Amino acid sequence: MIPPMAQYSIGVDLGGTNLRAAAIDAQGRILRKSSGSTNLSAGPDAVVADIVAAIRALREELGTEQLVGVGIGSPGFIIMDKGLITGSPNLPGFDNYPIRDEIERLLRAPVILENDANAAALGEKWMGAGREVDDLVLLTLGTGIGGGVIIGGRVLHGFVGMAGELGHMTVVPTGNPCGCGNTGCLEKHASATAVSSMAKLMGLGDDLSSEQVYQLAVGGNEKARTVFQMMGQALGVALANLVNAFNFPLYLLSGGMLPAWEFFAPAMFEECRRRSFVYRHTNTRIEKAILGNEAGLYGAAYLPFQARVITSAC
Ligand SMILES: [Zn+2]
Repeated sequence: MIPPMAQYSIGVDLGGTNLRAAAIDAQGRILRKSSGSTNLSAGPDAVVADIVAAIRALREELGTEQLVGVGIGSPGFIIMDKGLITGSPNLPGFDNYPIRDEIERLLRAPVILENDANAAALGEKWMGAGREVDDLVLLTLGTGIGGGVIIGGRVLHGFVGMAGELGHMTVVPTGNPCGCGNTGCLEKHASATAVSSMAKLMGLGDDLSSEQVYQLAVGGNEKARTVFQMMGQALGVALANLVNAFNFPLYLLSGGMLPAWEFFAPAMFEECRRRSFVYRHTNTRIEKAILGNEAGLYGAAYLPFQARVITSAC
């Protein structure tokens, strides 16, 4: 049984497909979870109504008084002080929509908006693979590549909130074009989408998913294995740059590409080693994250607790 007076916060993971929410207490225990789909075609007002309904349902069960706040992890660039999402291809219609203020108004509870990968990085720091360190970087390897930097136990935001866009680091100066306007972004060379495109260029098939390319690699297909080596090299370049920039003790990888670790990690380590003096001369760890899909929920839920500590310390 949950003690009736336990304080908790609610973390929301707003994805382009799924909308998930969890009530989590200050010790990191998940008290309740809910999940549904993100009804993007109905427009932002309807999605916000769904988010608010999910939060209300949890709040009614667990108590209004005990709710510390709400954290929302969302794809896209976040303008922190305005509580806006901008430039998220996964959330069309949300560009410059006042999502934070709208949810706060409907709920009458404090809401913190955060980039989804930043939230996942914070979740790994709070309850996952990064519990023992204060500084870490997380790369989420999915359809695209997200990034989050945790420094001194907190998300590094930069001056408007757009720091940590590590998927758009240049790893190949004249590489593949990216929707962000650059060419050779990490996510164009090491994401699931990139694996599919490389497989196509290698003549493995026109519409192979990254999972199918992985299965070919498992079966011993040399071209498929080369695809993952190229992916690993791109990651190694990015990690060498990150290690040189931050000298953090821990760099974590998560996301749907992790099962292919055995095929991309050797090239990744080799490339990082070759390019980073700091990596060669320290016991810097590059490891798998452990919370999977839950990282973003943990991180989003942790935001109100962290904000409360700061506020009460002032
Ligand atoms: Zn890019």
